Amino acid sequence: MALVLTRPLLGNIMKDRVVVFDLDGTLVEKEYLRAGLDSDNWDWLVFMKSMEGPRVIEETSDALLYHPDQQNIILTARPSFLRTATKVMLQELGLLPDRLIMMTDEESRQSLAFPDYFIEQHVRFKRRVLEGLMVEFDIEMCYEDENYHLETLEDLGLDYIQVTGEIR
Ligand SMILES: [Mg+2]
Repeated sequence: MALVLTRPLLGNIMKDRVVVFDLDGTLVEKEYLRAGLDSDNWDWLVFMKSMEGPRVIEETSDALLYHPDQQNIILTARPSFLRTATKVMLQELGLLPDRLIMMTDEESRQSLAFPDYFIEQHVRFKRRVLEGLMVEFDIEMCYEDENYHLETLEDLGLDYIQVTGEIR
């Protein structure tokens, strides 16, 4: 009996739909601003200390929580060595996503080596990840607070909601 193999119609395969959330300033408020951190004196340990028990931004967290049929990805420029601490934080807040994507430690080191390069590196990182995700998924919506990342989202033709992570 002959086995007939049909060529997969890759273009017609339905991709899973995902929603991509930034973390700091989007799902939780930027408590670290109070610690006086900026790209000239960035310190991830000071950052993590300042982000203990952060306030949740409800408009965004509701979008993550109340759509059980949707896959949620958190895409953050926090470095991978903070993965466990970040997961613990998300668990405590009840905001664990289906996937948590973080900057590699090497990329993060590079971004800290030159303050002028800090934001550029973060932008490159998110663009690279998003381009990969677009191959795998149908990205339904992105939530983001930083203008410099919104430019990437626009450039990639992705829908987004800008969150104004305010510090009160
Ligand atoms: Mg942010």
